[in-house]
Amino acid sequence: MYHLECIECHRKYQPTDVIYTCTCGGLLDVVYDYSNIHITKKDLKGPLSVWKYRALLPITREPISLHEGGTPLYRVDRLAKSIGMKEVYVKHEGMNPTGSFKDRGMTVGVTKALELGKETVACASTGNTSASLAVYGARAGVPAVVLLPSGKVALGKLAQALMHGAKVLSIRGNFDDALKLVRDLCDREGFYLLNSVNPYRLEGQKTIAFEIADQLGWRAPDRLVLPVGNAGNITAIYKGFREFKRLGIIDGVPKMTGIQAEGASPVVRAIKNNAAMITPEDKPETVATAIRIGNPVNAIKALNAIRESGGTAETVSDDEIIRAQQELAALEGIGVEPASASSIAGLRKLVDMGVIEKDESVVCVTTGHLLKDSEHVLAVCPKPIEIDATIEAVRRAVYSN
Ligand SMILES: *Cc1c(COP(=O)(O)O)cnc(C)c1O
Ligand SMILES: [Zn+2]
Repeated sequence: MYHLECIECHRKYQPTDVIYTCTCGGLLDVVYDYSNIHITKKDLKGPLSVWKYRALLPITREPISLHEGGTPLYRVDRLAKSIGMKEVYVKHEGMNPTGSFKDRGMTVGVTKALELGKETVACASTGNTSASLAVYGARAGVPAVVLLPSGKVALGKLAQALMHGAKVLSIRGNFDDALKLVRDLCDREGFYLLNSVNPYRLEGQKTIAFEIADQLGWRAPDRLVLPVGNAGNITAIYKGFREFKRLGIIDGVPKMTGIQAEGASPVVRAIKNNAAMITPEDKPETVATAIRIGNPVNAIKALNAIRESGGTAETVSDDEIIRAQQELAALEGIGVEPASASSIAGLRKLVDMGVIEKDESVVCVTTGHLLKDSEHVLAVCPKPIEIDATIEAVRRAVYSN
């Protein structure tokens, strides 16, 4: 039905192999026998969810699920007008069970862990991966170990990891250090690694593309804009669109457009320099902690997705991210965390630069929910107005500016 294949040397591995990267060091892809997969638009009727696409997921057992996917695709005309565009949509992944798209990967990844007979799951995380792993580990009844960069995780995410009973380790180092450690830990202890280097997680995340195609009436938008951290999601979504095209469900694939923060932008630099590989950054820094990553593991796949699709990559400043977050919240009623808002900030910048045409149809993926990082909200929004409990004081305050 499917196998794992190295994107560098094309060595193949079986579904029963517990392996994350090829012996040559290359990243792995899940490859299906597409000639034996026959799904049509008709087969895809009914409510959206990750598991609706089972025919294109590498799982045989009953899934560990909390009803992930089925997130709204909002048309955002007021925001579009403010940017100077005609057709802009927001795919709000913050509406998943734990508040980020990571759930799409974890429902598949944790189910795979059980299929492989693994008894402990583990990850390094900037926050959302740990929240999601803690929740799906609890749902599956297996212990979860999460490694976080000390002091740099949004409180909502940390709260989730703690409350759902993961073993939470705070590493004196950044995300890239934590990832190196957890890979070593999994090799030594036989824990199942659920970072996005794990190709099964990306299989769950590719369903974002399937849902967008369905929600747009079986077509792909001209362009997809999303934040890039470890670069798994851009890779996964591109794979999803390509699979739907290959199966004849849609005609085209969108231009994949990755946005990074100025302080953590190895993928953007590689695209601009036309480099074959990224140069890792030692001290990534940005208010958008979910994309505060200097050495993205899926960089090769992401560079390929961007180049093959005719897309691009751009940086945005922290100020631009915060402004976009506030604009999306106030103009459209969509609350997202800072990393997610970078897609909106990036769209605006690329339209201003003339890179994105005003008549393109664009979907921005907003990856996580506003409440993940309410500390940041309190830091950037005006304080509540404290007044006496009298109607005069209330009226004065209502009409003050
Ligand atoms: C994980 C995450 C990202 C980055 O996704 P990658 O697959 O690592 O590129 C962006 N935004 C949010 C909210 C996330 O949780
Ligand atoms: Zn290989």
